[in-house]
Amino acid sequence: MAKKTPKFIFIAGGVMSGVGKGITTASIGRILIDKGFKATALKIDPYVNVDAGTMNPIEHGEVFVMDDGTECDQDIGNYERFMGETLTTNNYMTTGTIYRAVIEKERNLEYGGRCVEVVPDIPNEVIRRIKKAQKISKADFTLIEIGGTIGEYQNLLFLEAARLMKLEKPESVVFVVVSYIPIPSKIGEMKTKPTQYAIRTLNGAGLNADFIIARSERPLDEPRKRKISIFCNINPENVISAPDIESIYQIPINFEKDGLGNKILKKFKLRPRKKNGKKWLQMFKKIEKSNSKKVKIGMVGKYFKTGDFTLMDSYISVIEAIKHAGWKNNCLPEITWLSSEDYEKNPKKTAELKNFDGIIVPGGFGNRGIEGKILAVEFCRKNKIPFLGLCLGMQMAVVEFARNVAKLKNANSTEFDKNCQYPVIDFINEQRNIVKNKNYGGTMRLGAYNCKIKKNSRAFTAYKKELISERHRHRYEFNNKFRDLLESKGLVLSGANPEKDLIEIVEIKNHPFFVGTQFHPEFKSNPLNPHPLFVEFIKSSLKK
Ligand code: GLN
Repeated sequence: MAKKTPKFIFIAGGVMSGVGKGITTASIGRILIDKGFKATALKIDPYVNVDAGTMNPIEHGEVFVMDDGTECDQDIGNYERFMGETLTTNNYMTTGTIYRAVIEKERNLEYGGRCVEVVPDIPNEVIRRIKKAQKISKADFTLIEIGGTIGEYQNLLFLEAARLMKLEKPESVVFVVVSYIPIPSKIGEMKTKPTQYAIRTLNGAGLNADFIIARSERPLDEPRKRKISIFCNINPENVISAPDIESIYQIPINFEKDGLGNKILKKFKLRPRKKNGKKWLQMFKKIEKSNSKKVKIGMVGKYFKTGDFTLMDSYISVIEAIKHAGWKNNCLPEITWLSSEDYEKNPKKTAELKNFDGIIVPGGFGNRGIEGKILAVEFCRKNKIPFLGLCLGMQMAVVEFARNVAKLKNANSTEFDKNCQYPVIDFINEQRNIVKNKNYGGTMRLGAYNCKIKKNSRAFTAYKKELISERHRHRYEFNNKFRDLLESKGLVLSGANPEKDLIEIVEIKNHPFFVGTQFHPEFKSNPLNPHPLFVEFIKSSLKK
């Protein structure tokens, strides 16, 4: 019977952020699934925002969207891509969500008149949610990634939740620490001291590490492994080396080389239910084989630069979807970041787009760089460069077509020109009121909507079916008042939402590939099931 009790694996980070807790969580999930178990994963974010929707992508990275419309951390995207699961709002929480729920319960007298306190009421709410997510998914293993780094004031209450769960059922909880082992260039040696401090801080919170995933530039050697084992009070076989590698999709395979899956099962006194599944390994072999043929993709956006650094995090799902589609076409996409602001300053610079096999204009918000994006669309349309517009990219394709083909001078989206004469992209009524009341959080058109595709369209060639469902995150829409006019000028409206009668896909004819989608197809691509629209886009790009 004990074998049936659900198991919980907490994953926290040591030393610094950005060392791959999310990918580690997703990879452990993948490994357990391949051993015949059902697994689900949750992310806990320490910030006070109720969700990720109100955060700037440069600060926070991509805002991922689930089918049910929850705007969440990009790690949920990693879980979905690695584990092949469709997750829900139950798989995500923030300090903001937790406090809001506790305060609402207090207002509803659900605490029976007693004093509500940070401890234990906040950790108890966290635990309630973790258990609820497990129940709904019926997972054998529930993985819980605690955001931030051990020792931060912000995530203490989440560690407290882990501690209380372990206290309740020690045999059902395992704690994994993903820690960074620096190799300072001037010293030239791997240093374990920061990790030792991180583990000591964890001990101070009443927890021990059952596994340490040692993230470093290079593999962990024996002396270092021993040092971590002795000073962090952990069996050396449970110190797992995790050196930098080319592809994140290799990580489950590397962990398995160290036997991590079976070691975790052993901690729970379990055995694999079946021999390791082969699909992931086969997929990875295909990735390795795709290295010889290249396809050059340009991404025209603006959320790249922060100070002297270029960040790719803002478009992580798009990047992954491009890669998945590349591998499906037996080629390796090379992605180049192109700043739309440069085109605005110097329109002639758009000529560089000729050097690419395909161009993507991804989603975005706000005025900056908008005219540059429109110039990029124009260049792709006229020069027959394969083009894929995602959300804002689709909206800009409509604006470009309206201005330059339908000759609607200064046509625009009302996001950028409130009083423009030809608002080809505009609010629908329900959004008008939301914005008037400044009710911004969680109120865009969010999550999965149906889309009906016209036969004889590019979209139909890709999807090979008429009814699809894709995820949204936007306030503005194609303005139906311009439907007939733009169609008569040659814009193909190849997909629409039947319930709300909203245009979801636009295309143009006599072009190798020119498609814009109001939705974000990138959110549903994964390496085992590359997204059909991206696959078709890369296929056309390869022909260029
Ligand atoms: N800013 C646009 C809107 O709100 C597009 C959003 C996006 O690209 N996700 O409609």
